[in-house]
Amino acid sequence: MKNNIIGIIHPELLKYFISQDEAFKYSCHSKHMVLLKCPICGHIKSMPIDQFTSHGFACPFCSDGVSYPNKFVRNLFKQLGESFECEAKFEWLPNRLYDLYFYQRNTIVEIHGSQHYQGKPNFHLISNRKDWEIDIEKRKYALDNGIVNYIEIDCSKSNLEYIKHSIMHSELPQLFNFSEIDIDWQQCVMAAESSLVKEVWDLWNAGLTNGEILSRVKISKTTLRDYVRRGYEIGICNNLYQPKNNRTKSHIKTNNDNGLYNARPTYVEDDNIYFATYKDVINYYESQGLIMSPSRISVAVNHKSSTRGKYFTPITKREFNNKYDLADISDYQVVGERFDDRFLEVM
Ligand SMILES: [Zn+2]
Repeated sequence: MKNNIIGIIHPELLKYFISQDEAFKYSCHSKHMVLLKCPICGHIKSMPIDQFTSHGFACPFCSDGVSYPNKFVRNLFKQLGESFECEAKFEWLPNRLYDLYFYQRNTIVEIHGSQHYQGKPNFHLISNRKDWEIDIEKRKYALDNGIVNYIEIDCSKSNLEYIKHSIMHSELPQLFNFSEIDIDWQQCVMAAESSLVKEVWDLWNAGLTNGEILSRVKISKTTLRDYVRRGYEIGICNNLYQPKNNRTKSHIKTNNDNGLYNARPTYVEDDNIYFATYKDVINYYESQGLIMSPSRISVAVNHKSSTRGKYFTPITKREFNNKYDLADISDYQVVGERFDDRFLEVM
């Protein structure tokens, strides 16, 4: 009985337990609810022990959506110096993604987490049955379309021993020519336990610009925005927006204040850009090879018509400032400087 104790079998999970006593009281398969704390962000939630053992903690705040087994296996192939594509998509089955695709070897590796196996004995569970059918469909299409090796790895438990065993007993060691001692397994665990979200938070709090963060962490701008918002919600990111002097957007200076008193901010929907002044519009499109004149822009703004194929919508300076402040976490672009408060009163 004693040898099933979670704290003994999985010492790597101890750091999640708020009460260490509980970790040494219950077995891995216990349905007992325990309070657990995310070691990365501090989020606390309660979970049945058996679920925690098989699925891991799955933090709603700092989880990056890449599963533990996926990060584990990705790191293993990184160590082997293999080049591969993650979540690969093929035209012969465009609505499905494959976990790892080794293009030089014409090989696909699928990593099956716990959800793939839970349903198998209970075939009446429609959702799990569907998962299983999808696996068969994916394998068939891959092999019918020129993939030479199609390897599925059982990672139904998110822990080192289980995944290591599955890998070492699969075709992978032979195919990729490695043995157990060639892999730094602890490094796989560390990669699996790390979070892209946490990495983004650290870079953000260190004051890096969006561009700098995106060049280090391979995620989209939308994902970056989502991660920062999550960090802000639990008080880890010190602000939701970057300070003004950290901005990455293109600045085209309008040097004289005179223009700002009667500046007319506009929005160009086709290009999804907010402009502070006509001068910003002219400079921006000139750099794109489009020559515009202030009078033509003015006509286009006032008559809701177009010049050089661009339609302009007038906006207020206050609206422009709002857009400016949110630009770093939005999809649109902003060209020009934020208006000083003294200009806001002027219509
Ligand atoms: Zn967390």
